Amino acid sequence: PPFEPVEVAPPAPPPPVVKDVTVQANIGSIAEAAKATQLGAQGIGLLRTELAFAAEGRLPDMDGQTRLLTRLFQQAPKPIIIRTLDIGSDKPLLPWSMEKETNPALGRRGVRVYRQHPELFYEHLTAIVSAWRHHQPSLSVMFPMIASISDWLFCRLAFEKACRAQHVPAGAIELGVMAEVPALLWLLPDLHREGCQFISLGTNDLSQYLFASDRTTSRGTDSPLALARAITMLISEAERHSLTIHVCGNLAADPHWARYLVGLGARHLSVPVSRLDVIRDALSKPLPTDIGAWADGRLSERAFAQQLMQL
Ligand code: PEP
Ligand code: MG
Repeated sequence: PPFEPVEVAPPAPPPPVVKDVTVQANIGSIAEAAKATQLGAQGIGLLRTELAFAAEGRLPDMDGQTRLLTRLFQQAPKPIIIRTLDIGSDKPLLPWSMEKETNPALGRRGVRVYRQHPELFYEHLTAIVSAWRHHQPSLSVMFPMIASISDWLFCRLAFEKACRAQHVPAGAIELGVMAEVPALLWLLPDLHREGCQFISLGTNDLSQYLFASDRTTSRGTDSPLALARAITMLISEAERHSLTIHVCGNLAADPHWARYLVGLGARHLSVPVSRLDVIRDALSKPLPTDIGAWADGRLSERAFAQQLMQL
């Protein structure tokens, strides 16, 4: 016959687009809380209390903290993850910032400051619980710079005490930690056993401490492959111990890394308000299904970086 039909292979099914991902906002002020609501953020993945208070020029007393937090809780989209004050090093805030240190990023910041000033920490926790009682938003609290189980227990017990004092039932507010000190990778089973419910990857500090590389003067020479492997391990270890995984560091605000993180299994990304659209757009496109294997040793550091930038 003059015409032979050609066998055409059926088109390959499109790779799955991940649907159950939430994109939340990082905020540090009432204006940003309102903006996050306006832009349709699916909650707040990081409320930086130290930024909110720094705008006042000093740490407000307990009532002042309660008032400000209440307004933030009102304005922000829910659910909200609030981080307790992360001060010291690049985040000074009187009166908690103290004597000069030779190496402040490795010195007193975050939880280490609380352990020196437990009364100020307790006041801060009391303000968080009081603000929660006004509207009872869906709220989680996380603690910065946790590097030991003893750090975690110190924070958890202080928080439970603040809840008891205001007759708030244990469990009404979820508790978790920032995963930003590399040692945490080896502590996840113990954290889970001691009541920690989630981790939030603080990739800004995680990178700083992983590479011994100042976050304020980064040279751009740190290995993306090492970072990818560290994150892969953190995510799979957290999954193994039923800890929910959030990512609130700036890596989540990079479209390539955001797609990579989702490919690894992260389902909750939190980004600056100004990055919500870019990241939502990046995540609306199909993802390759083999991302989990990219850092398994077959690709060189250079090839991995190139592949990542094409993702
Ligand atoms: C981080 O360390 O990645 C983080 C989100 O917290 P901050 O940048 O406020 O230290
Ligand atoms: Mg940090």
